[in-house]
Amino acid sequence: MMLEEARTFAGREHRLYLGGRWVDGPEGKTLETHDPSTGLHLSKVPAAGSSELDSAVRAARQAVDGGEWSRLTPADRQKVIWRLGDLMVEHADELAALESLDTGKPLRDSRFFDVLNAASSFHYCAGWATKLNGETIGVSRPGEWHAYTVHEPVGVVAAIVPWNAPLMIASAKVAPALAAGCSVVLKPAEETPLTALRLAELSLEAGLPAGALNVLTGTGPELGDAMVRHPGIDKVAFTGSTEVGRHIVRQAADSFKRVSLELGGKSPVIVLSDADLDRATPLVAQGIFANTGQACNAGSRLFAESAVFDRVVEGVAEYAAQLRVGQAFSEETQMGPLISQVQLDRVAGYVDIGLSEGADIRVGGKVLERDGYFIEPTVLSGTRTEMRVAREEIFGPVLCAMSVTGDDLDDIVAEANATNYGLGASVWTRDLGKAHRIARRLKAGTVRINGGGLDPALPFGGYKESGWGRESGLQGVQEYTELKSVMISLGEV
Ligand code: NAP
Ligand code: MG
Repeated sequence: MMLEEARTFAGREHRLYLGGRWVDGPEGKTLETHDPSTGLHLSKVPAAGSSELDSAVRAARQAVDGGEWSRLTPADRQKVIWRLGDLMVEHADELAALESLDTGKPLRDSRFFDVLNAASSFHYCAGWATKLNGETIGVSRPGEWHAYTVHEPVGVVAAIVPWNAPLMIASAKVAPALAAGCSVVLKPAEETPLTALRLAELSLEAGLPAGALNVLTGTGPELGDAMVRHPGIDKVAFTGSTEVGRHIVRQAADSFKRVSLELGGKSPVIVLSDADLDRATPLVAQGIFANTGQACNAGSRLFAESAVFDRVVEGVAEYAAQLRVGQAFSEETQMGPLISQVQLDRVAGYVDIGLSEGADIRVGGKVLERDGYFIEPTVLSGTRTEMRVAREEIFGPVLCAMSVTGDDLDDIVAEANATNYGLGASVWTRDLGKAHRIARRLKAGTVRINGGGLDPALPFGGYKESGWGRESGLQGVQEYTELKSVMISLGEV
């Protein structure tokens, strides 16, 4: 499906997916979305209310407690999850077109990054369904005992996701939850509902039993909040802003719902003077400009050693100046728009804040005078770690470049760690001893040395205010389980 078909899908009358059926939302309650490449109306989806949420939770409950999903054999669960991954690959062009319409991402990025990563979550997690084993435990109490642990599904999961990588982030929650035997009520971000709705259709085609996946569209303050407070939900899996994450934790405290959080970041990129700058420079640029900077792990603070600082900053600035900014479906486009007018105002506002704090614009900084929500890729220098632009998550294509001296690695690391966030970090050096020493000292969930990317096998998550828990890898699946210990007396001593 290309642009026209994607537009047709976007424009159709959307419903809510619950209990394996498509149902109408409440009368007269809808949300409108816009194409970020043009600012024009794109689609209208229902805003689910409390009665649709109750029905979805009931269906999800039935799928776990009734056993239709949770008690399938692990091999059967594995097959369904794998099939869903296959269907996503089969429909990759179509999913990519929907994602690009909704988010404004260049089509190539949606096709070869978002959709393939999303599908790989399903393929990877499918295998865990048959391998989620407990342990036998040697206990030291008097007597003879047989003791073991089991990973049981945590139950009904509310997955609440943002707009920056809608299908990928939804998949990073739905796939492990299903592998663990949980059922899911998924709420996409109000800006980007399309791929979640299509995922629901594909899940039906893959043979996922009714109620195992439910998709409700609606707003955060209404539907999202109601999900977090709903007594029928056992766990909230959230990706989004630290502010909403904090609110969710407070709401969930009453019932002690399980909560996992993938929140914001202000990830440091350390370039030492011995780094391979030809390799490092374009990747430093991509690290902040990819997805128009709307990535939780964007490398948004550069710390380059003073000996190479000018070369790196000039290289990144040159990369930025040549980057072709345009609409998602134009073949030349290398960087798309921001998601919305709100985000455009916010990012432009941060550039102004940076200037008033004393930063210099090395390149970019201007909002583009055209339809859609476009801003130039931007590099600020003369920033210091205490400035707002260097502390707060901008969530746009704005790099803060800082020069550091390499006499003491601890000083460089202290600068890099001078943030409330702790999601990602990158290090560029040919000295692997230094690289490992820095990796040990960084307070970040992921450290990339001389390159790196996402992998469904590699746990991903944050230190400090970047979140709770890990996504991906075995730990990512175990986040959707409760651990039960069982002990059996083997008779009198
Ligand atoms: P957000 O407000 O945190 O939204 C993320 C998700 O949470 C959305 O589905 C949202 O619904 C929902 N939500 C909002 N308020 C809620 C509440 N009270 N209870 C339950 N769910 C709630 O993020 P955003 O509005 O999309 O973006 C704002 C900022 O968050 C960005 O500028 C960026 O700094 C940060 N952000 C971070 C990430 C990340 O991956 N770390 C991703 C996206 C955004 P709605 O769709 O209705 O808002
Ligand atoms: Mg929002």
